[in-house]
Amino acid sequence: MSDALLACRDCGQLHRATNAVVPGHRLACSRCGRGLSRFPPVGLDTPLALATTALILFLLVNLYPIFLVSLEGRSGQDLLISGPLRLAEYGGPFAGLAMLVAGLSFVVPAVWLCLVVIVTALLLYPWSMLDVYLLGAYVAYTRLSDAVDTNVAAGGYALGALVLVQALLMITLGVRRVWDMIADPRHFAPQPGEPWVMCGACQLVVAAPAAGGTGGLPACPRCATPLEPRQPASLSATLALTTAALILYLPANLLAMMTVERFGRVNSYTILSGVNELAQLGMWPLALLVFFASVVVPMLKLASLGWFLYAIRRRSARWLRERTVLYRLIDSVGRWSNIDVFMVSILAASLQFGFLTTVDPEAGIVSFAAVVVLTMLATAIFDPRLMWDAARGDLR
Ligand SMILES: [Zn+2]
Ligand SMILES: [Zn+2]
Repeated sequence: MSDALLACRDCGQLHRATNAVVPGHRLACSRCGRGLSRFPPVGLDTPLALATTALILFLLVNLYPIFLVSLEGRSGQDLLISGPLRLAEYGGPFAGLAMLVAGLSFVVPAVWLCLVVIVTALLLYPWSMLDVYLLGAYVAYTRLSDAVDTNVAAGGYALGALVLVQALLMITLGVRRVWDMIADPRHFAPQPGEPWVMCGACQLVVAAPAAGGTGGLPACPRCATPLEPRQPASLSATLALTTAALILYLPANLLAMMTVERFGRVNSYTILSGVNELAQLGMWPLALLVFFASVVVPMLKLASLGWFLYAIRRRSARWLRERTVLYRLIDSVGRWSNIDVFMVSILAASLQFGFLTTVDPEAGIVSFAAVVVLTMLATAIFDPRLMWDAARGDLR
């Protein structure tokens, strides 16, 4: 048996690993530090039990209200789906926002959970955002309890438990282990010195000529994804998505994200004044968290992507490892910027008490959601290995 071959998806370095399948071991790239392989120290029965638990909890989250609110004897409740339904009633761009919230908090998590049981949808995980939704719900809760009597209901507790179980599920499952159980990578390993290519989906390292498919691009022998040495059209698509996000960044921050009407008095909140109000309510840790997720992270993503594209253009070799680490950071924290989107969705659904207290979504939150989605797409489509190619001078 030959050693397992592992290619780094951030810098393209090829590694020969002799102990890739020792339970509990974690291998990292010697050049840029990216984790390459982690073989979970438990068998597959644990993730299977967790997936079943998660499915039951997901049902509870959707059947029972997350919050019960009451004001002056009138009461309301907030089901997971009532936010998107409420947003859809505003029509126009809010219908798009409703679909986004429903997709990230309901459709993708549901599909992801079902597919995990048949283990193919691991690539969807960044778009399954119940953990981010939970934090948005917590921010909404602090604002709700400031305005009306609020009690966390059965769905809310199930949501908390579901997020925990989902995190455990990802840790115990081990994406690479699942792929390697579907097909052993050593059957496809290239000979030393032979040209190779890494599958973008399942990260199998294949000998380049052995990858021949029928017509068009050769396909991965393990998962049938077309084999590309680098993400196709990565630079132009990243530039286009980043530019679009940059343009929407201004309305996202200048326009109101929601208006709150209380006893005829109307207050508008932008992203920033929402953070400010949390601070004035004395919720400092929460204010800092939302400030980081909604203000710092989008700015950091736009600046970083701009820097990466410029450095590639200049064929720069400076800060190469630091840039790669920064890429991993913005790629992993980007999804947390959706906290405010989920918060507005929950508030608009829960606070509909007419003259007493009503919350309406505004154009700013639509632009903001667009910035978050565009920068997430830009980061996903950007291929960090191109920075290493450019520094070596073999960028095509
Ligand atoms: Zn690397
Ligand atoms: Zn593959």
